[in-house]
Amino acid sequence: VARDGDQPEFLQAVREVFETLQPVVEKHPEYEKAGVLERIVEPERTIKFRVAWVDDEGKVQVNRGYRIQFNSAIGPYKGGLRFHPTVTESVVKFLGFEQILKNSLTTLPMGGGKGGSDFNPKGKSDAEVMRFCQAFMTELSRHIGQFTDVPAGDINVGGREIGYLFGQYKRIRDEYSGVLTGKGLEFGGSLARTEATGYGVCYYTQEALRVLRNDSFEGKTVVISGSGNVATYAAQKAEQLGAKVVTVSDSNGYIYDPNGINVEVVKQIKEVERGRIKEYAERVPGSEYHEGSKGVWTVKGDIALPCATQNEVDGESAQKLVDNGVTVVVEGANMPSTPEAIEVYQKNGVLYGPAKAANAGGVAVSGLEMSQNSYRLSWTFEEVDAKLKSIMEEIVANSLAAAKEYGHEGDLMLGANAAGFVKVANAMVAQGVL
Ligand code: NDP
Repeated sequence: VARDGDQPEFLQAVREVFETLQPVVEKHPEYEKAGVLERIVEPERTIKFRVAWVDDEGKVQVNRGYRIQFNSAIGPYKGGLRFHPTVTESVVKFLGFEQILKNSLTTLPMGGGKGGSDFNPKGKSDAEVMRFCQAFMTELSRHIGQFTDVPAGDINVGGREIGYLFGQYKRIRDEYSGVLTGKGLEFGGSLARTEATGYGVCYYTQEALRVLRNDSFEGKTVVISGSGNVATYAAQKAEQLGAKVVTVSDSNGYIYDPNGINVEVVKQIKEVERGRIKEYAERVPGSEYHEGSKGVWTVKGDIALPCATQNEVDGESAQKLVDNGVTVVVEGANMPSTPEAIEVYQKNGVLYGPAKAANAGGVAVSGLEMSQNSYRLSWTFEEVDAKLKSIMEEIVANSLAAAKEYGHEGDLMLGANAAGFVKVANAMVAQGVL
């Protein structure tokens, strides 16, 4: 802790996990002997680099790039790249640490890593985004590879950016391999990767509702934050499963649509036009736009799916959700709930699905993309979707089994942390002190 005192997001993520691991560590004295806890919080490698690029005015811009290769006990480092002005070493480390346990939960052989840059793509031209991606990959390319470290997308890194990054890697290394996931379908991408995180969140929710409450999405009102990749496809799947989604948001404000969000309009505004969510209200009669993204948590509903960013639900917002009838909160974004919010869920018997379990569908399908690249073939949408669904159901089952084993029956948070951790810890013990 002393070593990372200036990294609040990282410490928050570690504290949340370690608080739940007490019964696991008590049952496994070999972990203490092997120094597993001390080792798992120290990244195997932290890479920080300068990214210099030229903007459309001919001016040189400088950003900072990161890649944190956190843990390779169960597979090559795997985790997304985030481009956002709020990216710091602390943010990348919290995401990388979560990724270790998340990837373990998918049942696929992937270690944990994460990266990104404080580059802000808002208002940048397509050519500027391309030049930034090329500059970023010029440095990153020497540290990654299909058997070493396989990055993917995250906030502001979608199909366009992955395309530019992949092209530059191929040019520099003269090698055509599955070094990135989330690629275009023409060059090694997997069907259903775009939908995977959002769909996975809903498959997870549906399964947890079935097992713990004998219930489903059918007839429920759903409050969603964000309007990016995760939010859009969570909304689409929730609607397919019989729910009505009444909100989406961005960092400026939120949309309330009492008739149910029209996902096609969201996709047109966000994916095609790269516009702001405000425009939804100008196009869909009966919907309203409200300034301020936090207001989304004051909307009445049964199920809340935070799908935007970290710490977007604080204690006060969580209390509002509960007061308005929400009894299920499942996280699409990484660490969207503050510790105070989680306390509110626990006090009020909310069915709480933590991010590292609920949003693991994205990286799971990335793992399937790696398999397809290795086999040099591609599966159909239906095949990938069916595998995704069964992985999400398995994550619920494994989390509940671990929760029971460690004396906290029904606790999806403790269960996810324990199940994810044990597999990595066993591998670390078996491989000796590294
Ligand atoms: P996108 O860039 O596609 O979308 C991010 C969305 O969140 C945008 O609507 C953005 O609005 C909004 N947002 C960002 N910051 C804030 C903020 N401070 N307040 C309110 N809204 C905000 O990213 P993704 O959908 O890919 O990622 C969303 C979350 O899901 C992240 O936590 C990410 O780590 C997590 N995740 C993503 C996975 C994936 O496969 N993509 C996999 C697992 C987790 P604006 O346009 O205004 O910035």
